[in-house]
Amino acid sequence: MTLSPDELIAPEGPVLVAGGAGYIGSHTVRALEERGVPVLVYDNLSTGHAEAVRAPLIVADLSDRDALRASLTEHKPKAVIHFAAKCYVGESVTDPSKYYRENVTYTWNLLEEMRAAGCMHIVFSSTCATYGDPVEMPITESHPQNPINPYGHTKLHMEHMMKDYSRAYGMSFAALRYFNAAGAAQDASLGEHHEPETHLIPLVLQVAAGKREEILVFGDDYPTRDGSCIRDYIHVEDLADAHLRALATLQGGERQILCNLGTGTGYSVQEMIDKAREVTGHAIPARTVKRREGDPPELVSGGTLARDLLGWIPRRAALEDILRDAWRFHSEHPGGFAR
Ligand code: UDP
Repeated sequence: MTLSPDELIAPEGPVLVAGGAGYIGSHTVRALEERGVPVLVYDNLSTGHAEAVRAPLIVADLSDRDALRASLTEHKPKAVIHFAAKCYVGESVTDPSKYYRENVTYTWNLLEEMRAAGCMHIVFSSTCATYGDPVEMPITESHPQNPINPYGHTKLHMEHMMKDYSRAYGMSFAALRYFNAAGAAQDASLGEHHEPETHLIPLVLQVAAGKREEILVFGDDYPTRDGSCIRDYIHVEDLADAHLRALATLQGGERQILCNLGTGTGYSVQEMIDKAREVTGHAIPARTVKRREGDPPELVSGGTLARDLLGWIPRRAALEDILRDAWRFHSEHPGGFAR
């Protein structure tokens, strides 16, 4: 049964949001609060920002089973949304240990403590990186999952764990496979702030703001319309909305949701830079350098599963909207998050 976010069953306890101080987590927390759902954020602040959170915040690690147990038994959340994970492909190649520890074993800790506490619904961040090198385009949920780096491997392990726990212990779960998260809250109160920054849009906007001299385009010899890589950029508020819909759908009785979150439209790096010039009114010098290792030429989501299952339709899919919202956040917080 598909339920809308407005039909979220008022839980007897809060929703615990692990990683709720991070980029997508903080927007989802805000969306829950706007619908009157009580929230408890659990975050070790390793990459998240306390300034992004107005909800009660427990600063703790998912390795801390005592803190996790206390949070679940004292606050009695009815569901968990799990964003807390490492998400850099390059780092996962040089330091896979960190990824297996934090993505796989910490998720195992969380599932174990949820099971013990009788908290049986979980929505979590998966990724299009679980598909690996695409063998067909666009990528639907039935595309083979053959990740090509440790980050993708660990996210696929997380999906497998959820499936096995669901089958054996009756937990229900949603694995949401994001394409490229982008944009910022429309009121500019929340946005993307990583240190160091590696993502295309924030880097392009830093060039527009004069904080960097140029944007490096990683490769112009891909088999795409202009030679640069194509990605499917999805607005962070649309992602947040999908999490609420997934949670409502689990509450409605669905046991297992595995679906892509993308717009179905791809933009090249070059198109992104051109649109950013238009939106910001700045020149944005760009220079082409060699390809970044591990970048497939094109990643675009296909199919209609999220719409059919969750009633989810991206509202801010236009590149212009994504860039406008991100630029407003950057302009109002020139020193980074909440400053
Ligand atoms: N990219 C680029 N220059 C940069 C950062 C990224 O050309 O400084 C390209 C990158 O090769 C990819 C796209 O922009 O094709 C999106 O990269 P990002 O790191 O934002 O997200 P990813 O697709 O790696 O998750």
